[in-house]
Order: sequence, then C-alpha cells, then structure tokens
Amino acid sequence: MPSPTFRLYNTLTHETEPVEPIEEEHLRFYSCGPTVYMYAHIGNFRSFLTADLIRRTAEAIGWDVTNVSNITDVGHLTQDDLVDPGGEDKMQRALEREGERFANIYDLARHYTEAFLEDWGALNLREPEVRPRATEHVTDQLEAVIELVETGHAYTTEQGVYFSVESVDDYGHLSGNTEAQQLEATDRDVVEDPEKHDPRDFALWKHDPDHLMHWHSPWGWGYPGWHIECSVMGMQYLGDRFDLHTGGEDLIFPHHECEIAQNQSLAGHPVVNYWVHTRFLQVEGEKMSKSTGNFYTVRDLIAPGPNDKHVPDSVREQGGIDPLALRYTLMQGQYRKPFNFTLDALHTAARHVRRYQDAAERVDEALEADAAGPDHLGDRLGAIHERTLEAMCDDLNTPAATAAALEGVKAIEQTDRLSGDAARSARNWLDRTNALLGIVESEHDAEPATDDGSQDGLSAGHLSSSINTLLEDREAARTEGEYARADAIRDTLEALGIEVMDTPDGTEWRRTIEVG
Ligand code: AMP
Ligand code: ZN
Repeated sequence: MPSPTFRLYNTLTHETEPVEPIEEEHLRFYSCGPTVYMYAHIGNFRSFLTADLIRRTAEAIGWDVTNVSNITDVGHLTQDDLVDPGGEDKMQRALEREGERFANIYDLARHYTEAFLEDWGALNLREPEVRPRATEHVTDQLEAVIELVETGHAYTTEQGVYFSVESVDDYGHLSGNTEAQQLEATDRDVVEDPEKHDPRDFALWKHDPDHLMHWHSPWGWGYPGWHIECSVMGMQYLGDRFDLHTGGEDLIFPHHECEIAQNQSLAGHPVVNYWVHTRFLQVEGEKMSKSTGNFYTVRDLIAPGPNDKHVPDSVREQGGIDPLALRYTLMQGQYRKPFNFTLDALHTAARHVRRYQDAAERVDEALEADAAGPDHLGDRLGAIHERTLEAMCDDLNTPAATAAALEGVKAIEQTDRLSGDAARSARNWLDRTNALLGIVESEHDAEPATDDGSQDGLSAGHLSSSINTLLEDREAARTEGEYARADAIRDTLEALGIEVMDTPDGTEWRRTIEVG
C-alpha cells in the first residue's frame, strides 16, 4: 500500500500543499522553542505538539527527520499581557519578579529550561535532533549582525543595531500585513528609538551594558534581538535551504516576518519553503489569563504541587492527570482551527487513554498465554491504521485520526478471547499507533520513585527530579560558601513541601506535605 501524500497548510502561500522535502524523504525543520522565563502553559504545548506530530507523521511515511528546536534564554521582549506588558526582556523581568528564588538570571534560565524539558518528556514529545540555546550562539548572531550591517541591510544608532525593513522587497508578505498594520503591531513590540530610520525597523542588537546578560560587541556591551536568534540557529544547523518552520500564530508577525527578511538578506535567496502555524489555544472559552483563573501550566495539571494556585479541584483530587490525557485532549482539535480546552474534555480524554492502557495490558497478557486460534483483528486493525495515517497526512487532522484509532481499541475490547496471533496483530497496531500519535504509552521512561516511599508514578518522578536538582544546587552552593544562595534554595524547597536537614552524615530531607 503506497503511503498517503503528506499535506500541510503553508501560511506563506495560503494553501494546503503536498510537503516535498528538498532532500528526498528527509524532512528538515526548525521549531521556535520556549522563552524560559516561567513554566510553559498548555497553550505553548499546543504549538510544540504540532511540531511533534509533523515529525511522527513524516516518520510514519518512511522519511527521516531532522528537527531543530531552540531555547530562547535571552532577548525576547515582553509583549503579551499574560504575564506583564512592557517591552522589557522577559527573562530580566522575570528575575525582577522572582528574584529571591534564584541566584541569578542564568539560574532562572536553567530552572525553567529543566522544567520545560520535563514537561516535554511527560507529554511524550520526541526529542529534537538539536536543541540550541540562544545564549550559546551569541557569537554566531554577532557575526550575522555584522554581515547585515556590511551589506547595507542594517544600521547602528546610539541604542543598538536595527534591521532596515526597506532594504528587502517583500517585508509583510508572510503575514499579509499592510504597512499600517505593521506599524501598529510594531508599536506594541519594539523599543522606541528616535534615531530609527523607519519605526518598523527591528532590533538586531540592543546596546545595554546594564542588562543582566550582556556580551561584548563592536557596538559596546549589549544583547541580541530575539528574531536574529532563530534565523542564525536555524541556518547554522539546517543550512541555508530547509523545508519547514513551525511556531504559534502569534509568531507570524513580527517574529517570522523578521526571520524571513534576515534569512533572505543573509543567504541571498529564500531559505524556508513551508511555514506552519498553530492557532492559539483557548481555555474554557476564553483567552488564557492569570486574572481569570483559566491559566494552566502543564505541571498544574499533571504534577500539581501543594502550593500551586491554579490547580482545578477535579485535578487536585486525583493528584494530577495522566500527561497522555493532556496530550490526547490537545489532539481533539486540529492545530489550525480554534480549540477550546475544557476540564470536561481533559477528564474524557483520561478515560480514553485508560482504555488504550487496559487494551494494551490485555494484549500483553494474551501474548504471554499465546493461545491457539484465528486472528480476527489483523485486517481490521490494518485498515484502521491506514485511516489514521491518512487523517494525519491530511494537514494533521488529529480529531479524525484519534477517532479512527479509537475504533481499534473498540475492536480489541470487543474480542472476547485473544489468540496469540490476534494479540501479535494488536500489539503491532498499538506500537504503530503509538509511534504515530504518542497516546498509548509514554516513550520516555518515568524516573523511578524516590525511596522515601511517598510517591509513585510519572508525576512523582517529575517532582522528585526537580527536588533532586534543587538539593544538588543547594549542596553546591554550600560547598562554594554561597550561603545566601543555599538558604534561598532551602526556602524554595520548603515552599515545595520539602524540609531539609543538615546532619553530620550529610543532607537529609523529608516531605512535610503529602502529594498525590
Ligand atoms: P514563548 O515561550 O512565549 O516564546 O512561546 C512558545 C510558543 O508557544 C510559541 O510558538 C508561541 O507562539 C506558542 N504559544 C503561546 N501561547 C499560545 C497559545 N495560547 N496557544 C498556542 N500556542 C501558543
Ligand atoms: Zn523563533
């Protein structure tokens, strides 16, 4: 059976197009990653899930995949009202807000990066081949900025270096924004500088010796702009022609528009063929917002801590929801359509995921028993898989794909006695379904529960791993004589319900609040 054609909607052409990789059967793509200034929320993960599903679908039709997904740990200016409005670097602003919890801005970045990677694993997202950090690529960004200045695409002022949007022909093509719309959007996003040639020009480098993260440049101490980070890291790892680029819909303008302008100016030709954008997730019918109480981080739902404020009662009662249920819920909307996340849908998804797990258990028992008998399932499950894959190839139609796959679970449930042959067909189908949709079993090993005996399961493993990191950090701080920092970490642990005791035999800890 030939594979179905993989189609995706391309924001650049406004059409759903067959994906044709530049290198035969090898999809190479870049995904804008998180800004690590707070715990990622479930909306962020709607966008990251799209990238994961593109990978899984490409692999299911036999392609190789190279995905680069960055960590933005400097340079992203605030512009959303979710946390703070303002036009300041999100990381620096976060440290001002949470200063006491962290020793310095690098400590904050490391903490939220680790938390992000845990959430990523919990939601069963595949690891990208490369996960570059912006702060590790500042020299590369500087080189790109110097080149843009030398080729007349950028200019310097007292305050920094700006890209001149007039220096490219089709600025505005991706978003379709007119000049007036660009001006309006730019107004919210960009620093005012009276020396700018055009108010739409965006910063490639900001002169700011007082910024907490600063590097030396030909224009003095400062830090890079957010847009240049992604252009540089994308081209560094994928070359100056690659297939696809993903992100949430808010990134179409200005972030991706700016990336295109920079890429073309650096490479001399278009760099990316397909731009794929995920529509924003709504929660209980509204834009997520801390003030309306419909704001959920991933960990609020899967591993709620005793002091987390946004945990819904129905989730806390269960000690957290299976992360695969969260993944399943997010897949109930196709990435390009508006999707309203509700707690009802989350609990329904948890039941569906449980059915997969029960079916898998029965199948494994039947494999063990290996009873003689016919295979009533093989053909049926084969046809179901074809329909599932077709739905995914149809612009990631995840609601249709999960509905088709659920038919397979029903087929297993309705088979009274599973012969060894039927069980082998069912196991094969479960594995293929999991490879494509990632909703049957997590491919990431849950960390073992700690030996205090208070926890088991995935959420416990996650909590323990953050605690272990904090304990290690505290130990390191004490060894280095940084007692204020050690005390600050002790306070954080206390807030997490962990009491730390320094004994002659080393540091011990115990839970003061039962979790789970
Ligand atoms: P940030 O950490 O703000 O850089 O965002 C990380 C990713 O999440 C970006 O691709 C955003 O476009 C995306 N994103 C932010 N909010 C939402 C939302 N409510 N729904 C879907 N994607 C989102
Ligand atoms: Zn980006």
